[in-house]
Amino acid sequence: MLPEFKPVDAAALVILDHERKRVLLAQRNPEIKFLGGFHAFPGGKADHNDWQIGTRNGSNELSRHLVCAVRETFEETGLLLVRGGEKLTKGQRASLHDDLVSGRSLFREILDDWGLWIDFDDFEYAGYWTTPKFSELRFKTHFFLTVCPSRQTPYEAMEELQDCKFVLPAEALGRWRSSEILMSPPVLISMMTTEAVMEEGVKADEKLIAQHLRSESEKVSGEIPSVEINPHTLIIPLQTVTLPPATHTNCFIVGRKRFVVIDAASRFAEEQRKLSTIVDSLLDDGGECLAIITSHLHPDHFGGESSLKQHIEQRTGRHVPLLAHSATAESLAGKVSFDSFVEDGDELGLQDSDGAAFTLRILHTPGHAKGHLCFYDQSKGFLISCDNVINTGTVVIAPPEGDMAEYLKSLERMKALDGLKSLCGSHGTAVYDAVRKIDGYIDHRLKREEQINSLLLEEKSPEEIFLSIYPNLPDNLHHLARKTIEAHILKINQEGRV
Ligand SMILES: [Zn+2]
Repeated sequence: MLPEFKPVDAAALVILDHERKRVLLAQRNPEIKFLGGFHAFPGGKADHNDWQIGTRNGSNELSRHLVCAVRETFEETGLLLVRGGEKLTKGQRASLHDDLVSGRSLFREILDDWGLWIDFDDFEYAGYWTTPKFSELRFKTHFFLTVCPSRQTPYEAMEELQDCKFVLPAEALGRWRSSEILMSPPVLISMMTTEAVMEEGVKADEKLIAQHLRSESEKVSGEIPSVEINPHTLIIPLQTVTLPPATHTNCFIVGRKRFVVIDAASRFAEEQRKLSTIVDSLLDDGGECLAIITSHLHPDHFGGESSLKQHIEQRTGRHVPLLAHSATAESLAGKVSFDSFVEDGDELGLQDSDGAAFTLRILHTPGHAKGHLCFYDQSKGFLISCDNVINTGTVVIAPPEGDMAEYLKSLERMKALDGLKSLCGSHGTAVYDAVRKIDGYIDHRLKREEQINSLLLEEKSPEEIFLSIYPNLPDNLHHLARKTIEAHILKINQEGRV
C-alpha cells in the first residue's frame, strides 16, 4: 500500500442553546482551503499551548482536546464557556476576545489572569471523526457537547465563521436536503442525531445526544466510509495509484432506489470490498444498479468496475452494463469491455431513497481527455466534475490526449450550467461555490497563457519557457509541466496569435 498522511489533531464543540432546542451552526469562510463554505461547528486545530491548560475533573488526553475546542469556540464565536466567566460583563468578554484574536494574550493567560477555569463536567464527550483520505490535509477531530449559558450570544460573523447562529436541527437538515448548504459527515450526523432525540419526544438531553454520537463514532472507529454530500450523492474516496499529492480517487454513487456508480476506480481488493459493502447496503434497501460508468481513460479511474459488475450481477441476477464515452472505450479496448456508450446530453433516470425520480445529465467535456465526462444533477445544482476540476493537486492537460482550447471550452460550459451550486471532482473534497472555483481555474489558465505568449513573442524556445515558468519544480513533475506548456503553445498557434 502507498504512504498515508497522518491526520492532525483537532476539536469541535456542538453547542445547544439554553432551551436545548437549537444547535449552533455557522458557515466556514469560503476562502478557507479545508471545507470552505461548508456549514460547521466552531472548532479547529490543536495548539501546543493547549497542553499547558488543565481542566477540572478531566482525564489528561481528552482534557487537551477539550481545551482546544473551548479556545477555538471563544476565538470564532466569542462564546466563553468557562467557569468564573459569569462575573464578566459583555464588554469585558469582548475585550478579552480581542486580546486573544489579536495575539496580545494567550488563552492560558486570560484564564489565569481572570481566575477562570474549564470544568470537564460541563461537557459531554461525543466521539471523534477522521477526515476521509481525500488528500494530505486531514484531521482527527474530537467532538464535545455542551449547553450555552443564557447570558451569552455568539458573534454572528468572524473571519473564519460567518452566519453563526442557533438553528433548529430540522431547519438545518431541510436546508441540506435542498442542497442550499453543505455539511461534513460529523456535522450531518450530529444534526440528525439531535433531531432524532428531539423527535422521540425526549427532552434534548445533552447526555443522551452525546451518548448516541459516541456510539456512532465507535461503530466505525471514527472512520468515515463515505460522504453523503446531498441526499442524492455519496462520495467514496478509494485508494488508487494516482498523481501526488492525491492518493485517492473519488467514486460516486448517484441515486438510491435506482443508482449509478461512477469510477469504481481502485484495483486494490480491500478498496473494492469497501465499495461493494456500500453498494450492498443500497441493494439490501431495494436499490437497483442502473450502470457502472467510467469517466475517462486514465488508469486511476478504472480497475474495479468489472469486479463490481460481477459482484452485483451475482447478487441480484440482473445485468449491469459498463458504460463510457466511445472515445474512452476505444482507448481502453482490450482493458475494459464496455457494454455501450454514453453521449453528451444523455439523461440517466435515477431515484432517491423515497423512490422519487430525478435525472443525472451526462456532459461530454473533453480537454483533460478526449472522452472525459462530467455529470450534472440539476435538481441539487451539484456537478461531478471528475478530473476537469479537482480540489487537490493540478489538472494535467497533456497533448495529444489533452487539448487546452477544448478544456477551456468545457470549463466555460460547466460554469454556465443552469442552477449550478456546488461540485466535487475526482480528487479532494467537495467545493461549496462551484462557479467561483471554475472561474479561478479559467483565470489561472488564461494568465499562464498570457505569460507563455509573451515569452513566445520574445522568441523563447519551449524549453526556455519551461525553465522560466517552473524554476523550482520537483523532477518527477517536469514531464507533465512540459506537456502543459506544449498544450498552451498549441492553443496559441491554433488561434494564430504568434
Ligand atoms: Zn484523468
